[in-house]
Amino acid sequence: MERLVSDAVIYKITKYADNSAIASVYSYDYGKLKLFLPKAYSNKSGIHTFIPGELDFLKKDTTNLNKFYSFRIDTSYVEYLSTPAISLRLSLYFDIFDRLYDIEQQDNVIWTIITKYKTAEYSKINLFGIYALLKNSGHMFNFNVCAECGSIIQEQGSLYMGQYFCEKCAPEEAYTPKPYVNTIMRAFSNQELYRKIKVNTYDEISVLDLFVNHIENITEKELKSYKLFKELIFNI
Ligand SMILES: [Zn+2]
Repeated sequence: MERLVSDAVIYKITKYADNSAIASVYSYDYGKLKLFLPKAYSNKSGIHTFIPGELDFLKKDTTNLNKFYSFRIDTSYVEYLSTPAISLRLSLYFDIFDRLYDIEQQDNVIWTIITKYKTAEYSKINLFGIYALLKNSGHMFNFNVCAECGSIIQEQGSLYMGQYFCEKCAPEEAYTPKPYVNTIMRAFSNQELYRKIKVNTYDEISVLDLFVNHIENITEKELKSYKLFKELIFNI
């Protein structure tokens, strides 16, 4: 056992009847963690989710459930708490993270992404962040080349069972996003295009529809937080 400190974000707190709780955490140094908040820890309502900060905890050797000591938010991110356009997106982002990453699976890019929400255009950084989750966890499909005939896909592709197809080869049941979705995805691996491209909330939803279709297919489970996201994002 070792007492450790790391930059971290708490993204979920599951409470129990006896007033103890389990916190789900992304940490910069140790990846995804689960932490036990004992009954004796009385200030659970004071623990903020979706805001970067510093986590102090006891890492257990024999179990994945570590012991929580404290979490101190970085006050330079305090707007994350008061800006629904950020917290709503981070809620979806971390729901996807939770699905795709294993306990203690590290990814330092995540920290860079979440610290950028305060300076970046929300729709753009959110899409890029979710794209990076898919790519870095090894789940991103190749959207440039048809999985069947190998031709380059410029504008229109279709997703079926984790693979991307050109218009000619796409199975009838495939999911076909709006034509500009491919252009937005291309910008994720092209800095100059990324800088120039404008993404509004409608564009964001079009790309997310494709990503969520893919995530639900590979995890074989509905991503309920996305339904809520779509309901709320235009009303905030
Ligand atoms: Zn093809």
